[in-house]
Amino acid sequence: MRRLEPLAHSRKLVLRHGGHKQSHRHETVHLINLTRANEIGANCYLIEWDGLKLVLDAGLHPRLDGPAALPDTSLLPPGEIDAFFVSHAHLDHVGSLPVLMRNQPEAHVLMTEPTGLLADPLLHNAANVMHKRAEEGRDAVVRLFGHAEVSQSVKRWRSCPLERERALGDLRFQFFASGHILGAAGIRIEGGGSTLFYTGDVNFRDQTLSRKAAFPHDRVDALIVETTRGAAPAPPDFSRKAELSRLAEKIRAVFERKGAILMPAFALGKTQEAISAIHAMIRRDEIPECPVFIGGLSWRLTALHDGLADEYPRDLPKLRIIEHIGPRLLTGREIGSHRLIPGAIYLLSSGMMIERTLSNLLAQRMLAEERHAIFFIGYCDPASPAGRLRAAHADGTRVELDPRLGPQPIHCEVDHFELTAHALREDILEYILSVDPKHVVLVHGDPAALEWFRGEIVGRRPTMRVTIPAPGARVPL
Ligand SMILES: [Zn+2]
Repeated sequence: MRRLEPLAHSRKLVLRHGGHKQSHRHETVHLINLTRANEIGANCYLIEWDGLKLVLDAGLHPRLDGPAALPDTSLLPPGEIDAFFVSHAHLDHVGSLPVLMRNQPEAHVLMTEPTGLLADPLLHNAANVMHKRAEEGRDAVVRLFGHAEVSQSVKRWRSCPLERERALGDLRFQFFASGHILGAAGIRIEGGGSTLFYTGDVNFRDQTLSRKAAFPHDRVDALIVETTRGAAPAPPDFSRKAELSRLAEKIRAVFERKGAILMPAFALGKTQEAISAIHAMIRRDEIPECPVFIGGLSWRLTALHDGLADEYPRDLPKLRIIEHIGPRLLTGREIGSHRLIPGAIYLLSSGMMIERTLSNLLAQRMLAEERHAIFFIGYCDPASPAGRLRAAHADGTRVELDPRLGPQPIHCEVDHFELTAHALREDILEYILSVDPKHVVLVHGDPAALEWFRGEIVGRRPTMRVTIPAPGARVPL
């Protein structure tokens, strides 16, 4: 495993203007939302902290192509960014980093070590996907970056250990484990009498591998918080354990009728969590031994999880997924000719079944047969093929998984299990109320999700300032 270069311990990070800010009397801090809409897209937030310019996350929109998938880069003045902070390695948080770093030769690029190790192959994979699609001449897909630029970018990344305070000019910052995926962290920044905490994506409950967030609860001036599940109430009597036993029961039923199961899953995080959960079901005799297929990228990311198992706090620390569970590899080349195996689980990306990915291609074949099942285990954008399939199934209509195919009838079983890596909205609300910030900035959610949080906070803490930052608007924090 190639390691990320750590940020030197003792040294204060030198800034492009020597760390001397224009004024020490009145710190003014502003946030500009560079995401192009209030949605879960290309997450990116510019923080102007007196004379400094910091960027929180550099995402790529999961459903869009070309420049439209980037954050609004017109608001990032060339050569003026002091630091990029990356919360975690999902592409909607790190996918545009090579592009955003392009005109920022002096910016420090900071993240936890697992985030850097996982983001490296993910960005190379994204470069491959763009290259392939551009070669096919598909709907004006533009290559946003290539392999050489990813490699150049990775060389400048510096890793920061969790919970260790570091200096950036006159500011101090710290990463705290967020419980979302391996390496994911919230980021605290402090200086000149102001404090800010950015949650990134967070989970306040244990998953099968990831442990719940270890966030500080001390008061901050501004809390920038994700709201992914704001529109989804926690199911009554929800527990992850109960949801996993419901899943085990459904898996058994599919196997008994000689069907196969597709679980669309993000290659990073969801795949490793789900395969570990399946392994635990087998060990508890809840389901029979079964082959589990994963794709090539998932394989590489799983190997990284195994390699880091001793170094980062998680549950099942002794489990080495590849060695102990023995998943089978299913590549893009093989999927067309692969014969579905009854009693097998296909844990394939993408999680939202984006056109031409393994999960989309396999789903097209599974829809036709009643004995098969498609089980969703995470968040799906309602406009994605996965979101459309869930809606069409609920409405009893046909679904268009790929525009080239037209609508298909749904004969297989379709179900959804609450195994999300995002915190329940109730847990996030509790965290907001316990931190009691002066100002809450709601991000990373669809409009209905954002509004639920605003309504709840205003109702409970009328004096707390709540902002849903409009794209491009400069919000004082
Ligand atoms: Zn994420």
